[in-house]
Amino acid sequence: MRDSTTRAVRYQVFSPSTFRLLLGRKGAKVTCRMQQCAPRAYVEADPDAIAHNLNVARRISPNTQMMAVVKADAYGHGMEATVKRLEAENPAFFGVANVTEARRVASVGCGTRPFLLGPTAPGEREEIAGSGWGFTISSMEEAEHFSSIAASAGTVLAAHLALDTGMGREGFLPSDLGEALPHLLRLPALGIEGVMSHMPVADEDENFSRRQIEIFEECVGEISRHVKLRYIHLAASAGIMRYRIPAANMARPGLMLYGVSPVRCPVAEQLRSTLRLVASVTLVRTLPAGHGVSYGCSFVTAAPTRVATIGIGYADGWRRHFSGKGICVLIRGALCPSLGRVTMDQIMVDVSGVPGVTPGDEAELIGPSLRVEKLAEQAGTIPWDIFTGLGPRLPRITRSLG
Ligand SMILES: *Cc1c(COP(=O)(O)O)cnc(C)c1O
Repeated sequence: MRDSTTRAVRYQVFSPSTFRLLLGRKGAKVTCRMQQCAPRAYVEADPDAIAHNLNVARRISPNTQMMAVVKADAYGHGMEATVKRLEAENPAFFGVANVTEARRVASVGCGTRPFLLGPTAPGEREEIAGSGWGFTISSMEEAEHFSSIAASAGTVLAAHLALDTGMGREGFLPSDLGEALPHLLRLPALGIEGVMSHMPVADEDENFSRRQIEIFEECVGEISRHVKLRYIHLAASAGIMRYRIPAANMARPGLMLYGVSPVRCPVAEQLRSTLRLVASVTLVRTLPAGHGVSYGCSFVTAAPTRVATIGIGYADGWRRHFSGKGICVLIRGALCPSLGRVTMDQIMVDVSGVPGVTPGDEAELIGPSLRVEKLAEQAGTIPWDIFTGLGPRLPRITRSLG
């Protein structure tokens, strides 16, 4: 029976002659193994470039340890591959947003501790304490709870005291420190190994930020009179690029690890690009003049237009509000403007000026020459938002971007 004959049909693997040979072997029973095709849209991330950028942060902050911030899937780059590579650079901590992310860092099996950047929820604290992860305390309630968890486990925990020096998001207010500190120091099973705060306008307001640094330094001075602080940290990327903070001995770079500087400065030139967002052309046609493109028909062709459909949309993190902003993608080395609205899984671009575009061609949406800073500016958002919006539907592929 013909049906009983299965043939190996790995079109891209076998040369035409091998293929003919296989088909020619009448009655041959070969297991059929389909070759997996390339994903329609994916992220290429370069962990070596991320490591390079960590070392740029080190160069401009002498005598400063680094907490590598890898929250939000390493800003869309893929957490596991990023952590594996950065581990070799010996960061002091890996900064994460929540327990799930801390578990992912820990699952890579690295020796560097995850550090939970924000206030912790009561239900998370047993696991944080039991796992030895770094954490902050922002209130007496949080501190007392951690101390009681440690006491019942017969251990002592080391916390980072968070200070609200202007961010309004977490930490003790400096004006409350005088009262809180003696209580904190009396907790039987909670020590203080660090002090941290966060800058809300490091990229915007120099007077505010300088005043904030002074307040931070005063608080650190006061706390240091009572405890020996191992970690003192204030700056994220913008703070690292803009300010020297002699009282601090650690910094928390996030965005700059991923090749983007939040401020314009010469050091930004030293950062390497770490990510490409790529999708394939799925269809190319010429639409006549007067033809609408995409939902709402907000774009109508003025002349016959060669239109390529590309397999990426807002469900992948190519935001719907990128629509109608003249945002271009790169196909065969040429910039092609997108047309009409971004749909859930597809976008359309004008390839009239690019000869020979065919389905299967690669379209680059973010990359070394399509900077995420510019995209953010065009779309009225910020690079953090675009990176962290890259969705789980996009496979992350590790590749050197040269
Ligand atoms: C996210 C975060 C960072 C990293 O910020 P970047 O601006 O991306 O460098 C640092 N510290 C804290 C507390 C954060 O929440």
